[in-house]
Amino acid sequence: MKYDVIIAGHSFAGLAVASQLRGSILLIDPKPIGEGQTSACGTLLGVPQRLGLMDSVLQAHPFLAFHTPTRTERYDVQEHHFCTFDYQRFCEGMAGGTDAQILQAVVRGVEGDEVVTNRGRFRGTILVDASGWRGVLANSVCPRYTPRERMSYGIETVARRKGENLCFWYDPNLVPEGVAWFFPIGEESRIGVASYVGDGHLRPHLDIFLDSLGLTKANIHGGYFPWSFRVPTAGKLFVVGDAAGQCLPLTGEGIRPALYFGQACGRIIQRILEGKLSLRLGLDEYRAFVLHHRGLYRLLGFFQRLLVRGPVGMVNRLIALACREPLRSFILRGYVAYADPERLTPLDRNTRVNHQQRHYAPVIA
Ligand SMILES: Cc1cc2nc3c(=O)[nH]c(=O)nc-3n(C[C@H](O)[C@H](O)[C@H](O)COP(=O)(O)OP(=O)(O)OC[C@H]3O[C@@H](n4cnc5c(N)ncnc54)[C@H](O)[C@@H]3O)c2cc1C
Repeated sequence: MKYDVIIAGHSFAGLAVASQLRGSILLIDPKPIGEGQTSACGTLLGVPQRLGLMDSVLQAHPFLAFHTPTRTERYDVQEHHFCTFDYQRFCEGMAGGTDAQILQAVVRGVEGDEVVTNRGRFRGTILVDASGWRGVLANSVCPRYTPRERMSYGIETVARRKGENLCFWYDPNLVPEGVAWFFPIGEESRIGVASYVGDGHLRPHLDIFLDSLGLTKANIHGGYFPWSFRVPTAGKLFVVGDAAGQCLPLTGEGIRPALYFGQACGRIIQRILEGKLSLRLGLDEYRAFVLHHRGLYRLLGFFQRLLVRGPVGMVNRLIALACREPLRSFILRGYVAYADPERLTPLDRNTRVNHQQRHYAPVIA
């Protein structure tokens, strides 16, 4: 039972890694593909466009809106539309770009080259942790690899209300040290609140926010999302997506980075499998590639701290400035250029498999 590559987690990061690999690949996740959405699933429209996943898009957004206690600013993104998408359809589309085997199991950790799960042990030449903020493999190699105190926490619900813009509220009366959002998805909207300091007691804030909009909550989902960018290797492990703290501070955008770094990681691993690179050099190359992007993380981390600790008046003025020219174009260009969707590799339609054809890994009792 030895696989070329074993990947823990098959959400954005895990599927992006797998999409670049050929060989015997095992994806392990406790949930079926596309289940267990935590996210509001807002990203640049260029992402599903580039990957050939436009059928997952629920709504395109040419404007963002930022609400503060004293004003509302509209931010024009017509050059680079944002969108909201359907998590299940997106993940199923991504999974269609890989013929990896899938095992529904809980990964507990790693011992040597064996991944330990609640359904047996599985050996892999190369191991990847894409298990999100839990970092189940990385934490078992380096304890406290994903420190909880360096994470935001967010929850959201879906309500029947249409809208046009992706809206954000920076208002301490609604969520202290946090943000609230309203993301339209056609006939409905995803409405949520998050705390940058990881405060897990957000339900009363969500209730107040929904009340202010005249709405009531339905099912709630959410979780942690880290804002501490880390060295993305742990021993011989590749670590990708939220597990490596690749979610952006301030904006909380983690899907595009997970896909971008995930594909880069997958391409490097494929070269190792083809004998073009040693594992050691592959780990070094991936680490160097990821850390090359740390400037934006530092900058956004600085603005996140300012938002949490700075006087409300100053925060309001900064948001207003950022929404006007010439800063608006400058910020948007820089923000899109980082993890530019154009640099994603379109999914390989030739390897596409549908659910009926998918191989499920035999379980070791
Ligand atoms: C409320 C909320 C709203 C958000 N909204 C947005 C947004 O609109 N846009 C955006 O870009 N980002 C958003 N984010 C951040 C974004 O969701 C994450 O950055 C992104 O999902 C990271 O992808 P990932 O694949 O690294 O991790 P995840 O999507 O968290 O996936 C981790 C996977 O690992 C699996 N897993 C967990 N434990 C184990 C285990 N023990 N064994 C095996 N598998 C395991 C999970 O089941 C899951 O499939 C939001 C986050 C939250 C919490």
